[in-house]
Amino acid sequence: MPLVVVNTHAHYDHFFGNAVFAEYGVTEFWAHQNCAEEIEQRGNLQRQQVATLEPEMSGAKGACTELVVPNAIVKDQPVLVDLGGITATLFFLGRGHTDGDLLVGTPTTLYVGDLVEQGAHPSFEDSYPEEWAVALRHISALRHRYEFLIPGHGQPCSDEFVKTMANTMSTAVRQARQSIRDTPNDATKAIPVLPYGPEQSRFFIQRLQETWR
Ligand SMILES: [Zn+2]
Repeated sequence: MPLVVVNTHAHYDHFFGNAVFAEYGVTEFWAHQNCAEEIEQRGNLQRQQVATLEPEMSGAKGACTELVVPNAIVKDQPVLVDLGGITATLFFLGRGHTDGDLLVGTPTTLYVGDLVEQGAHPSFEDSYPEEWAVALRHISALRHRYEFLIPGHGQPCSDEFVKTMANTMSTAVRQARQSIRDTPNDATKAIPVLPYGPEQSRFFIQRLQETWR
């Protein structure tokens, strides 16, 4: 069977490897529309993230360092991909960790990208915190269909883990909103009350303000 690649979202640690797969003959790269657009328009800006770790990738010099933009696009409707006796369902639950998080469901396993991270605080840089909490509740509601849930980083997760992550995020949204209302001139006052590390809390507040509905 031909190899197929899915990019769960447009963060460098999830799509910089595409050229390696292309080298091995992959021609079908799936992603959500917003993810593909982000990679095409601003993917190169993320090269600076690997300046020390991967200087060749950072400088776009050397084998397999070109960016491969996904060419098989998922929008709001789920897409079924035949893997030869097994069907993978690619679907979008709305904005969350980014504006283009794609999930992959197989008969046994749900891959959720960075919508769920185990072993680290969630990354809020490009997130929509309120909508992310809703997406996590969707994942939790779907969880019974799958034996395993594979996060974007860390170990496979239980339903309890996803529920806790959803509740923590909803609580954080309420706390941060209250804090921003109390001291509108200094939203950073909310940082110590939030359940995330200082850096991620700063991003959380910034994104909450930018995406306020
Ligand atoms: Zn990510």
